[in-house]
Amino acid sequence: MAKYIFVTGGVTSSLGKGIIAASLAKLLQSRGLKVTIQKFDPYINVDPGTLNPYEHGECYVTDDGAETDLDLGHYERFLNTPTSQANNVTTGRIYQTVINKEREGEYLGKTVQVIPHITDEIKRRMLLLGEQGYDIVITELGGTVGDIESLPFVEAVRQLQWEMPEEDCLVVHLTLIPYLSAAKELKTKPTQHSVRMLSQEGVRPDIIVCRTEKPLSEELKRKIALFCNVKPNAVIEAMDAGTIYEVPLKMLQEGLDVIVLKRLQINGYAAPELSKWRAFLDKLNYPKTKLNIGLIGKYIELQDAYKSILEAFIHAGAVNQCKVNIVNVHSEFLTEENVAEKFKDLDGLLVAPGFGSRGVEGKITAVKYAREHHLPFFGICLGMQMSVIEFGRNVLGWKDAHSTEMNTATPYPVIALMEEQKKVKKKGGTMRLGAYPCEIMPGSLANKVYGTTQISERHRHRWEFNNNYLKDYEAAGMIPSGKNPQSGLVEIVELPNHPFFIGVQYHPELKSTVENPHPLFVSFVQAAKWFTESKKGNVAVVSN
Ligand code: GLN
Repeated sequence: MAKYIFVTGGVTSSLGKGIIAASLAKLLQSRGLKVTIQKFDPYINVDPGTLNPYEHGECYVTDDGAETDLDLGHYERFLNTPTSQANNVTTGRIYQTVINKEREGEYLGKTVQVIPHITDEIKRRMLLLGEQGYDIVITELGGTVGDIESLPFVEAVRQLQWEMPEEDCLVVHLTLIPYLSAAKELKTKPTQHSVRMLSQEGVRPDIIVCRTEKPLSEELKRKIALFCNVKPNAVIEAMDAGTIYEVPLKMLQEGLDVIVLKRLQINGYAAPELSKWRAFLDKLNYPKTKLNIGLIGKYIELQDAYKSILEAFIHAGAVNQCKVNIVNVHSEFLTEENVAEKFKDLDGLLVAPGFGSRGVEGKITAVKYAREHHLPFFGICLGMQMSVIEFGRNVLGWKDAHSTEMNTATPYPVIALMEEQKKVKKKGGTMRLGAYPCEIMPGSLANKVYGTTQISERHRHRWEFNNNYLKDYEAAGMIPSGKNPQSGLVEIVELPNHPFFIGVQYHPELKSTVENPHPLFVSFVQAAKWFTESKKGNVAVVSN
């Protein structure tokens, strides 16, 4: 029988509910429990796949092809276990299911209502993962308590709290304790209000986690406990951390996991086994060198648009014991004239994924520079496609080579719409999504990086390398070193006469975790390290 933990948020958004949920899950996992985390989002989109990054940040993709909230990325990076379609549910999906059932006639003439039909569907989905052998299912509720759109979700939690045995269900409420510098005081009133709001909606929190810039005194904790109806030891301080990866250890120090275990009456749990996690943090906190990696994209002003890429660099930096400093370069404003100046301090270049034509010429300029100057290059999805276009234009001499995504009339459609995409009319959930196998060419750079010839990686795209041009590319020195074994779709391209030049059609960043950093990021950072060393004249540029 699984036990259920719900994580709600109060006062403001962006408090880091996902990180708190993932940290608690990590601690419970480290004590030998089987844990999963799911996210319920109160918006009406069926999934975030149709939302642009300005609205929603990165769209995270699971092995089974779900387009999900970026918090699922944190869950996977912390727990090192995959999530699935079932781990992210939106209001849109709930209503879609209920309305489809109504159209099927399943409600037998009844009036279909928010309570009980919508809340029943929410509850069904909240309990679903509990049937898959987990000891604990943590559910993060998106949004902030008091939002109109999150009401049915809070109501579902209320019903579950009422229906389940007390020791099977627990609510953690994350809130903010602001520090007013003029008064030199931490203020608890917003927390009191948010807990009152939650109580008015019928949900009683068991644990209050307080985000704060300053430590909470015992007296303040007692005050929060008194007003919020919890025991003082259930008021947990969550001080701002230097990195999100410190948060599990901070929560361990605060005893969050022990309070949860006691309250859920889970006995016989092991001592926390966090040696790998601590070893990672040691390397992360004490880097020996520093590198500058250029991130070339059009959403660089948005923290969350390239979340998984940034986190994968943190993992890979730790493995290489170096601090990876990401230099954001806006692709829209990158030109032949300013590229040398902008790239002069870089040790490597990552051209980011993306959609549409804005900024693609800048990305192509970036690839050209990396290819010609032997700067380590890593292209992901659209970044890989840009490397193919650049090679077509500047090496094969096909001046107008392009992707038909940006130019349908190009005489050289070196990147073309996938066959199965041609009949697609609807935009939602119709890309080539999720994990597909890839066969790697023995002896290639990809083969060295992965140490194997069989891999599986996650995808999210509609266009692909146009195999009609494959022979020309191979003859001119761009190698398709990874292919889908069924369709022959090119998954990896590389330039053997360059120290490190690799483009991948898939998204390796989605599979990098603290305990399993992605080999492509690890090798790319290593190549960048060699590049700086060679600049200093310490070693020759290493050729693969
Ligand atoms: N727009 C490109 C495609 O759909 C690349 C997608 C991406 O970078 N995720 O093929």
